[in-house]
Amino acid sequence: MITIHNVHKAFGRHQVLKGIHLTVQKGEVVTILGPSGSGKTTLLRCINYLERPDEGQVEFGGKTIDYKHPSKKDILFLRRHTAMVFQQYNLFSHKNVLGNVTEGLTVARKIPKREAEEIAMAQLERVGLADKAGHYPNQLSGGQKQRVGIARALAINPDVILFDEPTAALDPELVGEVLEVLLEIAETGVTMIVVTHEMEFARRVSDHVIFMDQGVIVEEGSPHQIFYQSREERTKKFLHRVS
Ligand code: ADP
Repeated sequence: MITIHNVHKAFGRHQVLKGIHLTVQKGEVVTILGPSGSGKTTLLRCINYLERPDEGQVEFGGKTIDYKHPSKKDILFLRRHTAMVFQQYNLFSHKNVLGNVTEGLTVARKIPKREAEEIAMAQLERVGLADKAGHYPNQLSGGQKQRVGIARALAINPDVILFDEPTAALDPELVGEVLEVLLEIAETGVTMIVVTHEMEFARRVSDHVIFMDQGVIVEEGSPHQIFYQSREERTKKFLHRVS
């Protein structure tokens, strides 16, 4: 469903991604693990061109897009068919919860307000926040804010949702409620690529696990292969350190 080939990205002279290949099937949950600074977030941001790769292609929805020379239409296509859930939520503080979730529908998709609100309410229901539709972000806990971020991503019905360490900014006692929502969503067949430091979550939810270090994919496989039968020293060391 989505295949990326040979993605390279440097910031100045620092090569952050050194030729990444990745395939994600429809309905799959792929988690990306690895030490801080290994390029996980950059990879996620390159996929939908929030970050401009220096090289590489993506095959997606029957199209092949050259990351180096995409047309405006290509970029729009990538943005339209993907959604991102950010570590820092990125909600509009001057809009209430419902307004945050409808924004992408009314502005980018030109869906009439009434219909957008219906879609948004259904997704807020799904993340357990229908009763907070009229609240503003500063009236919510971190976990609730992130669940709004998830509802916003779901509302545009993208082909794939990219999650950038969705629980990293949360107080420990709020992590569980967000992971619970992610698990529920995963079970409904949403295609997800998740950068995470939550190993137990990755073990439970993933169809495919990717371990990255220093800009390359060191090892990938099923959760069982990666967590219990890893072949690479770097993977073993990392898992030993974090678990
Ligand atoms: P991870 O998500 O694995 O922690 P990142 O993709 O965030 O890693 O970062 C990989 C490397 O790229 C880090 O060394 C980071 O400092 C660098 N980096 C990320 N974004 C930028 C940027 N916008 N400008 C310069 N360096 C960056």
